[in-house]
Amino acid sequence: MSQQHRILTGKVIIATHNAGKLREMRELLAPYGIEAISAGELGLGEPDETGDDFISNAVIKAEAAAHAAKLPAFADDSGLCADALGGAPGIYSARWAGESKDFDAAMALINEKLEAVGAVTDAARRGHFVSALAIAWPDGHLETFEGKVFGTLIWPPRGTAGFGYDPMFLPDGHTRTFGEMTSDEKHGLPADGSEALSHRARAFQMLAKACLAK
Ligand code: IMP
Repeated sequence: MSQQHRILTGKVIIATHNAGKLREMRELLAPYGIEAISAGELGLGEPDETGDDFISNAVIKAEAAAHAAKLPAFADDSGLCADALGGAPGIYSARWAGESKDFDAAMALINEKLEAVGAVTDAARRGHFVSALAIAWPDGHLETFEGKVFGTLIWPPRGTAGFGYDPMFLPDGHTRTFGEMTSDEKHGLPADGSEALSHRARAFQMLAKACLAK
């Protein structure tokens, strides 16, 4: 991260082709008067995510969009890490859902692998979501932030809200999974500026403090 933060103003490209992430990023940016245009709307391609951690992949996506669109670009790389699986699926979270983006199957696969290693108690089924956010400017300036939320990987999944692995993630201190929460509850952004709930909202709080003016 740079020493001197840069304030983001005007238009920003949201470098994602994932509708759930696009919606959440737009919701988070809305109060700051930033005009958010999606990479999909501009017909920008999706670069290969060749990084070996979340931040590197967020940077690859943000830089590719910033260079192509000649505007600042904002990207998120995120995923779910299961402790008992050595952090898998991690940066491969999207790939575990396959070409058809079948997250029911991806959640079942995580559960199967957890059972295979004997992770059947809540204590053994610890996991966390990670969200790495990057903003890249066409002149090469870069800002990066990372947020995490810890919880239990429950089975069977519960709830139909949210996206991806939300229905199997029970955040610590809560009785409902992310799949049972409204989008606002999942973000959990308190008006007093104390810590948000979701990994993406936590990373976003850091980004907002450094790079957004209200
Ligand atoms: P990527 O960041 O595009 O590589 O994709 C990460 C994958 O992790 C997504 O396809 C989601 O399925 C999953 N994921 C990331 N954030 C969330 C979340 O907030 N809820 C549920 N699943 C998520």
